[in-house]
Amino acid sequence: MTEKYLFQPAAVPSLAVVGSDARYPVGRIFCVGRNYHAHAIEMARPVDKATMRPFYFTKTPSTLVASGETVPYPTGTENYHYEMELVVAIGKAGFRVAEADAADLIYGYAAGLDMTRRDLQLVAREQGRPWDLGKDFERSAVCSAIVPANGRAVVDRGEIVLEVNGETRQSSDVSKLIWDIPELLADLSQFYHLQPGDLIYTGTPEGVGPVVSGDRLVGRVAGVAEVHLTIGERE
Ligand code: MN
Repeated sequence: MTEKYLFQPAAVPSLAVVGSDARYPVGRIFCVGRNYHAHAIEMARPVDKATMRPFYFTKTPSTLVASGETVPYPTGTENYHYEMELVVAIGKAGFRVAEADAADLIYGYAAGLDMTRRDLQLVAREQGRPWDLGKDFERSAVCSAIVPANGRAVVDRGEIVLEVNGETRQSSDVSKLIWDIPELLADLSQFYHLQPGDLIYTGTPEGVGPVVSGDRLVGRVAGVAEVHLTIGERE
């Protein structure tokens, strides 16, 4: 028997899967903060791995946007930023996972943009408030189709690049992640029961910056995927 609802529930957020006609249903979106040294420094919050652990924020799954779309310049900001990231898609449940077992949880990978209202994020940061207004807003989680891992080794290198209108703005390598993917899954699974449908944005390299209406973004993680986004008019 189907449930009776007062109004039509929202569709399940999902992503296309390369080589499959089935889609990947997205349950949660975790994002890692400050996971490349050069980006942490540009944000004036350097990271000492010896004494610090990774930290996370989340985006509501309904914020998901497929690669190739046009999103309006969002309300409430004068400093709308891109952050190009490698995304991990979880395919198997895991809780308190050892680094050595982390690869078993990975369904695949994607290229994503953690779009950010930087002005609102920084106000929240300075006031010790949550980052939601800066990070968890409508259409802020852009993601390519999922590329299945198919048993290959964990992605631990590969150029990560973002171009705006054909000009390179971010250029680094996944090998520069402060906490690599097994370390992230081991750490995050101390705090959450990871499950199929969980996406993890692994952090952005240096070179974050603003976009304006009309800008065309192309991001790429070598050997994984490309992500495309166009910035529309202000809403
Ligand atoms: Mn980010």
